[in-house]
Parts: sequence; C-alpha cells; structure tokens
Amino acid sequence: MTAGPRRRIVIVGAGVAGSILAYGLKDIAGADIICLERAAPEDHSDAGTGLNVGPNAIKALRAFLPDLAGTLVEQSLPWNSWRISLTNGRELMNLPLLDVADNPGIRIRWSALYRLLRQPVLQHVRFSTEVIAMRYARAGEAGPIVVETRNRRSGVTAVIDGIDLLIAGDGRYSAVRETFLARPQPEFLGVCIFRLLVEETRPELIDDYEQWFNGPNRLLAFRVPGNATYIAGSFPIPADRDVPAEAKTAAALRALYTPADGAAHAQSAWLIDTICSNVADIHWARLQEADMAFADPNGRILLLGDAAHPMVPTLGQGATQAMEDACVAVAELRQALAGNDGDLAGAVRRIEQRRRDRVEFVVRFSRDATDTMLAGADPVSGSLAKNAPGFRAKLARLYRDAPAA
Ligand SMILES: Cc1cc2nc3c(=O)[nH]c(=O)nc-3n(C[C@H](O)[C@H](O)[C@H](O)COP(=O)(O)OP(=O)(O)OC[C@H]3O[C@@H](n4cnc5c(N)ncnc54)[C@H](O)[C@@H]3O)c2cc1C
Repeated sequence: MTAGPRRRIVIVGAGVAGSILAYGLKDIAGADIICLERAAPEDHSDAGTGLNVGPNAIKALRAFLPDLAGTLVEQSLPWNSWRISLTNGRELMNLPLLDVADNPGIRIRWSALYRLLRQPVLQHVRFSTEVIAMRYARAGEAGPIVVETRNRRSGVTAVIDGIDLLIAGDGRYSAVRETFLARPQPEFLGVCIFRLLVEETRPELIDDYEQWFNGPNRLLAFRVPGNATYIAGSFPIPADRDVPAEAKTAAALRALYTPADGAAHAQSAWLIDTICSNVADIHWARLQEADMAFADPNGRILLLGDAAHPMVPTLGQGATQAMEDACVAVAELRQALAGNDGDLAGAVRRIEQRRRDRVEFVVRFSRDATDTMLAGADPVSGSLAKNAPGFRAKLARLYRDAPAA
C-alpha cells in the first residue's frame, strides 16, 4: 500500500479548541500539524477568571481523549449542584447535577485550564506567533492556503504555504472567519456581565455553583482550586450602549444587589462586600452572540469554538462546546488522515454535520435561559420554571447527549 500525500494542517490559536485539537492530532503520521498562538506559553493575561465546564464536555473528553479528561478532573473541583436564590436568601431552585447528567462538571481557574491544555502540546505550538494575514494561494504560491505570521517578540515575519486545511481556533473575534467568510454581526442582549477572581474563600458560605437574584440583577459564584472564589455579576443595560461608567462603581454595584428591604442574606452580603472592595480588578463585557458558521464552501477552512458559534455564557457552554467541537474534529481528522485518500474536505463536511444541530440547540437554550437576566424580568417565576420537567429535560439533553466516540 502506498502512503497518500503528506497533509499540512494549520491551527490558529492554542485556546480551548485549538490546544485540544493539537493534542489529539500531534502524533498522527502523514500530517504536519502546526499550531500558531499569539500569546507566550505562560501568558494567560487574556484569560478571564474562573469557569465551570459542563458535564457534557467531560463526558465527551472521556470518550475521545480520556487522558486529558483525567487531568482536568484531577486538577479541578467537581461541579455537582446548581442552586438559585434571591439575594435575601429565599431559595428558588436546588438541583443535584446528577439528576440531569451522567457525571459532574468541573470548576477551575482560566489560567489553570489554559496551562493544563497547553502543557502537553508545548513542543507542537509556535507561541508568540500571530497570524497577521491569510488567503487562498495566489498564482505562483503553493496552496491551497497561505498564512503570514509575525513573531510578537522578535517582530520577524514569515510565510507558511502549502496548507491543506486551516482551522480557526482563534476565538470570538476570529480573523480567520473574517478573512474567509465574513465578520459575524454581534447581537447584544442588553445585559452587562462582569467577572472577578478573588484569592479568598469562605467555604461555609460559597462552595459549589450558585446564583442569586435581586430583580434581574444576578450574582453567580463558586469556589475554584487554590483558595479562590470566582464571582460574576450581571444586570440589564440598553442593548445599543456600552456598559455605562456610572454603573462600574462600588456604590452602584452595592445598590444593584442589595434587596429593597436592605437585608442581604449572609452569602450575598459577603459577595457584595467582596465585589465592592475589588472594583478595580473587574473584567467587564456585554452578553452577545452571533451566527454560526463551520466551514468555507471548499472545505479548506474549518471553524471551531467561539470562531464558529459565539454564544451567550448563561449556561457555561462556550468553552464546553469548544471542547465538544475539538473532540469530534480530532476523531474525523484522524480518520481522514488514516485513510489513503486523506480527504480533509470530506472530514470538514462530516464535522459540520455532526455538530450543527447540537450547537444550534445549545445556542438557543443558552439564549432562552437568559430570560431571568433581561430588563423587567421576574426572576422568581423564571427560576421556579426551571424546576419544571420541560427545562429539566432540556438540561438532560444538554448534559447527556455529548458526542460519542
Ligand atoms: C463572561 C463570560 C463568562 C464565560 N464563562 C464560561 C464558563 O463558565 N464556561 C464555559 O464553558 N465558557 C464560558 N465562557 C465562554 C468561553 O470563554 C469561550 O467560549 C471559550 O474560551 C472559547 O474557546 P475557543 O477555543 O473558541 O477560543 P479561546 O479559548 O478564546 O482561544 C482563542 C485563542 O486564539 C488566540 N488567537 C486569536 N487570534 C489569533 C491570531 N491572529 N494569531 C494567533 N493566535 C490567535 C488567542 O490568543 C487564544 O489563545 C464565558 C465567556 C464570557 C464572556
């Protein structure tokens, strides 16, 4: 049997999807895998604070890349429950995750997640290397795809040609997507979301994943490894405006989450005080989403993670879906590269077929679950409705129907 032609696959971005893909493909014979990452190996400054990864991603990783799943589970805290209350202490929902999932999710710091995902592929990623231009090859260039890079430390530029498949793992503001498809139009939901990681814990008050509402203004918090607490807050803002400067003050934030009768329950009182003492360290953002796209018509460009489907973070599914995407992509690309024809465009089509309906469901469900965070929302009726069989069945679909190997 003669070996097929050697394929060159370039992955842009060693974030969640890109690192997992590099890990799953690094030892494949018959392919050059090049992963380009603009950050330095230990630079997690772009990474946010903490995150919860859904049970569905852990289930998928266990099926496709069990070693990696084992490492993540070992180095994180389990996400076992989801409780919703009002900031005055009234409980509205208390869900053991195993009622709707086959295994727990995880709670982890962003910096730890990036470190754990990048560490096994350090030799396979060109760090500090930013992709600055890319195109279908011009006459005289070795194609089908060409990218230009710049080293952020040395300033040296380089050209990589002869690329058979370019994979966008470059996140929400994907330059790959903008170059080969179009810049996705963001749709803002009219909700501000802020994130904070404090090197402080009160495990008797805050441990596993919980949310607290005061009107549509919501706090969310959980403990992460290394004696830290992740806190996120949200509140409605006009959809067509940036987060107003006057909302970013301790006094404004205290007012947003303090119940009308002035008596915040012990958990919320600690969170409010902690937020107000750390206002300078808060990361601010707006809830937004955009259209989904997985590939160019030629099957030469594959989009994964936020580059393919920027979604609202309400159900903690952004990185979770990037992991599911990467698992499916690893399996299909391995199979294509193992075959003699090396039909990468066929693999791209199959990846899109396996992912489209699933991701569409997750994007819509994440948006629908944002109902209690919108201006004028009633968090009491909205959260109580999350106890109903309809919502629970959707959660079970979300957490159990992970891609199977
Ligand atoms: C407020 C908020 C809270 C969130 N909470 C959660 C949560 O709890 N759980 C969850 O699952 N998800 C959460 N998410 C979503 C999550 O952050 C993203 O969905 C996830 O990081 C997407 O992974 P990715 O691999 O697509 O991209 P990323 O992880 O963003 O990685 C992109 C990588 O590409 C690199 N890159 C970009 N451009 C270039 C270039 N030109 N050249 C070279 N490299 C480049 C970047 O440096 C980066 O390393 C949250 C998002 C927000 C905004």
